[in-house]
Amino acid sequence: MNKYKPYWDPEIETMPREKMKAFQLDLLKQTLELCYNKSPYYRRTFDEAGVKPEDLKSLEDIKKFPVIDKKVLRERQQEAPDFGDLVCVPEEEIVYISVSSGSTGVPTASPFTASDFEDFQDFEARLFWSSGMRPTDRYCHALNFTLFVGGPDVIGAQKVGALCIWAGAIPSERLLAIFKQWKPTVTWTTPSYAWYLGETARLQGFDFEKDFNLKKILVAGEPGGSIPETREQIEALWGADLYDYYGLSDIFGACAGMCEKKDGLHWAEDHILVEVVNPDTGEEVPEGQRGEMVLTSLKKKARPLVRFRTGDIVSYTTEPCPCGRTSLRLHGVHGRLDDMLIISGVNVFPSDIETVVRKNSDLTGEYRIVVTEEMHLAKITVEAEHAPHITGDTTRLAQKIQKECQSILGIRPNIKLLEPGALPRATHKAQRVLDMRKR
Ligand SMILES: [Zn+2]
Repeated sequence: MNKYKPYWDPEIETMPREKMKAFQLDLLKQTLELCYNKSPYYRRTFDEAGVKPEDLKSLEDIKKFPVIDKKVLRERQQEAPDFGDLVCVPEEEIVYISVSSGSTGVPTASPFTASDFEDFQDFEARLFWSSGMRPTDRYCHALNFTLFVGGPDVIGAQKVGALCIWAGAIPSERLLAIFKQWKPTVTWTTPSYAWYLGETARLQGFDFEKDFNLKKILVAGEPGGSIPETREQIEALWGADLYDYYGLSDIFGACAGMCEKKDGLHWAEDHILVEVVNPDTGEEVPEGQRGEMVLTSLKKKARPLVRFRTGDIVSYTTEPCPCGRTSLRLHGVHGRLDDMLIISGVNVFPSDIETVVRKNSDLTGEYRIVVTEEMHLAKITVEAEHAPHITGDTTRLAQKIQKECQSILGIRPNIKLLEPGALPRATHKAQRVLDMRKR
């Protein structure tokens, strides 16, 4: 008999879906009222759209409200410094900001009140618990602490009662030395870094069984953690279980994560309302189909987000999970809208190519997608490394991969096979797409 409870928050985690919807509706009304009464930006844009908080009678009515995105957050912060006019509280109530820079390089802040921060850490603890972390674990937090919202997640692990090692983003030799000396059972990195670190440890002659005691690896930030082929490779390398998490700096360090059944990411439905829409039309897409995730925070006080377009392409299920939790589950993030390539009119996600490359044991698993332009037509070439045991002519192997890519993508990419070790290894987020097209 396990001496620990199965759930961190049994009432919320096993709440019947209808009851959860009623709970969300109540919180959503409060959030919209807070936004309308306290944020000049929300009041103005709600008025322009001709909607008021009292127009919300059901969760579906959220569609009447205008969407925002990262660009809005950045612009409002510049127009109304320092934190933008989506903020609903005086600065004296703000206790923490995370800062993310994003692709345009202008850092934007995500402010938290004390209760926002407490909610954040309680949810992180819930996720850690669902992935099987217990007070008997040692947790090595290997995410960046500098301004990054993932840094404070370590406090959630301390709430669980695990022994926490605040490593942060440090060189791999130092991290491996920590793994060897203190033998953490759980760590958290990106999937490409977990892979890189495992390969590095193997090359340096570490004995994974004797030198380490790693049982669980949490990953976030790239699609790999939900691609079964990638997950299995990293799990085999470390002899540990991999759990995919999803985070968004503008809300929480992690907003969803895998339970021990590893079948989708349980969503924080009591904190965040999820919509999945067609990015072109804004129409809702049915359960199981891919669309852009649009999020509304339900409890945040400092800077509530109403209908925030994440740019992340996801699909979800509301089928009950064998673990007994009732929340909506993401099937992982299939890609980013801005990572999505349109080749001959077909949407191509790098994660689909990763699926083909990672399941083939004649390849090392490293790959890169090069996009070129020939006579105004986009062409893609998948560069992948053949495994060391492959010698001689690789034409047939290339043809096999080309056929598999074609059956998943609907278009036929060129395949270029390289020697093992020829592609650059990622130490943080892997750059998988090299777009050589003229803009
Ligand atoms: Zn579950």
